[in-house]
This record gives sequence, C-alpha cells and structure tokens, in this order.
Amino acid sequence: MRTLYILFFFICVFANICCSEGSNNQPILPDEEEPTPPPSEFNPDNVGLEYDDGTNIAFHIKIAIDKEGFDMRDMDFFKSRLKTQWEAINERFMKLDKKNVLKRNYIFIPDLEDIIIFEGDHWEVPKNYANRIDKNKYQCIVAYDFVIQEGEGGGGCSDDGYGMSNILVVNPGIEPGKFFNHLDETTSTVAAIVHEFGHFRGIIDLYPFAIKASDNPVSGQSFSPIAGIMNNPYPAIKDCEWSEYELRCLNVNGARKEYRLYDTCLWETFTDFIEFTITENGEPVEGYTLNFYKTESYKVTKQIAHTMSADGNKVRKDAKALFWYGKALWQYYGMFLVEAINTKTGNKGYCFLPIYEPHTQGLIDKVENKITDKSFYKKTIDIQPQKQ
Ligand SMILES: [Zn+2]
Repeated sequence: MRTLYILFFFICVFANICCSEGSNNQPILPDEEEPTPPPSEFNPDNVGLEYDDGTNIAFHIKIAIDKEGFDMRDMDFFKSRLKTQWEAINERFMKLDKKNVLKRNYIFIPDLEDIIIFEGDHWEVPKNYANRIDKNKYQCIVAYDFVIQEGEGGGGCSDDGYGMSNILVVNPGIEPGKFFNHLDETTSTVAAIVHEFGHFRGIIDLYPFAIKASDNPVSGQSFSPIAGIMNNPYPAIKDCEWSEYELRCLNVNGARKEYRLYDTCLWETFTDFIEFTITENGEPVEGYTLNFYKTESYKVTKQIAHTMSADGNKVRKDAKALFWYGKALWQYYGMFLVEAINTKTGNKGYCFLPIYEPHTQGLIDKVENKITDKSFYKKTIDIQPQKQ
C-alpha cells in the first residue's frame, strides 16, 4: 500500500439500480399492469450531501485531471475509461463486505460531464477551482495526476476543513513528465480509491501499526495489525475484505459529512475505561508498575508516555486520557507497547495496545449494544518468568 498510489476515491454506480435476476424470470401476462416502482427507487438526481435513503448511501464525486496529463490524450480517452473504472470501484467497495454486514448499499457517482482540468498543486484543486464545485452537492473530490512534475509527492486523502474529502491519485514512483495511465485495469487504482473511500467514510489507516521484532528495542516482539482494506487494500477481491472493525466504522458513520471524520469516529465511540489485569504464570500479581511506550513510524520507541503503579492485580485507566495527548481530536497515540513489571519478582510482561482495540469495544458497547453503563476494554498481561 505504501507503494504506489494514494488515493481517494469513489465511484459511481449503476449496477445497484438493476433488478435482481430472479425478478426477470416472472412472466408478465399481456393484460397485466406494469408494476409500479417502489417509491424508494434510487434516483441519482436526488443525491445531495449526506444522502441516505435507508437503503442506499450515495455521493456525487467531482473528478479532476491534471492538465499535463490531459494534454497527452483526449477527453474521450478519459471519459470512457473513468466510467469503467468507477463501475469497478463501486463493485469492489460492496463486494469486500463478504458477510453482508453493511447496513446500506454504497453508491459513488463520478461527475464525468464537468471534469476539472487542473493546473498547479493538486491538493489546492478544491480552493483553486471552488467555482466549479457545488458545495451543496459534492462531499468528495478525486483528482488524478497522470503526469507528475519534479518535486511532487504522494497522494492520499485530505479534507477541505469542512468535511469535503480531497483524494489524490498519483504514482510518485514514475519519471517526471511521463504519462502514467491510472485508468489501465492492470494498475491498483481501483483498490487504492476504495481504500481512500475508507478514510472518507471515517476509518484510520491500520498498516502503520505493523512492527518488526528488530524495531522493538523494549521487548523484541513483533506486531501485525488486523487484516483489512485499511491495512492492505491491494489483493484481488477474493483475497481480502473489509474487516469487522472497518465495517463497524462504516456503519456508524453512514453518509456523515465531518472534518476528519475518522478522528471524530474514534473520539465519539471510544471505550470509557481500559482495565488491565496482571498475572505471572497465570497467578494474580499484587503490586506492579505499568509503562506505556510510544510507537511511531513502525517502531517502538524508548519514550514512556504514561507510567502507573497499582496494588491490586486489576487497574482501570480512563481510555481517552490514555490515548489523547492534546485537546484536538487528532492528537492521539496510535499504539502503545505496555510493559508490566511485577514489584515482587521484578519480572516483566508485555502487550501491544493499538487504538482500534479499545475503539472496537466502544463501538460494540455504545453503538451495537447501546449500553447505558460505562464501556470497559479488558486487557490481560501475563508475565512469564525471565529466562536466566
Ligand atoms: Zn490510507
């Protein structure tokens, strides 16, 4: 994923409007009246901001193409291929929900009639071409950079500050001045855009939590985050899917328009307390110290963000106070390596604590089970006696 693209998003969608195959098999008698369509039939013309009709969530997507790339082909080249690509994006987004957990059918509708041909910084398209983007209609823009210039970096998902996502599709690995065809089916653009739509719909990246044993100077253990589209979005549809965590985020966020929705999602549905239980060789430990080591850039650091002592073998910690270090919603730690030291024996035990674990607990308790009591995420660290 860290490879080529950056992406962002969306699609369009006609496939979902069709009837199921079964409905076509019903013979219609000559004098039978045409069935009237149900009132809720999806009509793209009705789609505005935060569109959710109870069956479909839909978004109009503004498309932009860099002028350097556009000048090397003609409009037909882009329009025909974009249409195909966005059908594939829509298909992939839904097919990655393999257990039918999504509460809505998602539809991404690219505007292929008024494509913006942009000059200058791709991240500035929403500002520089504001008069071309109806803020009451578009909740997301996808800019393609087919020809990069010296010094241009990677893509990804950004925000205009008010909840309109700004997704950039670019391949920073290609030679400046050369045309890279993001619309070729053999590229990973469809998968990348679906991943960026994950951000658009309020999910954080999960791949940065991966840690190699050699990058953990504290305990020497490795860590692999849960598989999913925000971890590795590139496998074929048959080989990957939205994880349960990702599906929970998609369902709770729906069609919501919000600045950095993924941060808001974490904050609003986070568990209340994290309860640690410490054992040594399976026996309760009375009296210990907990150290929370920071992780960053795929490494465990030797910096301790929090430290605490406890007398009994259980201790509760305010979950938000543990993860958020500043007042802004985006000021949180992604993951800790937690170290437990038995006061009596001096032996140490460890566990990784990625932010999506207590968040998952919060989503289950507060959204799915709607509990009125406080939500607790429980974590046990079993200390193994150190080898001499
Ligand atoms: Zn990402």
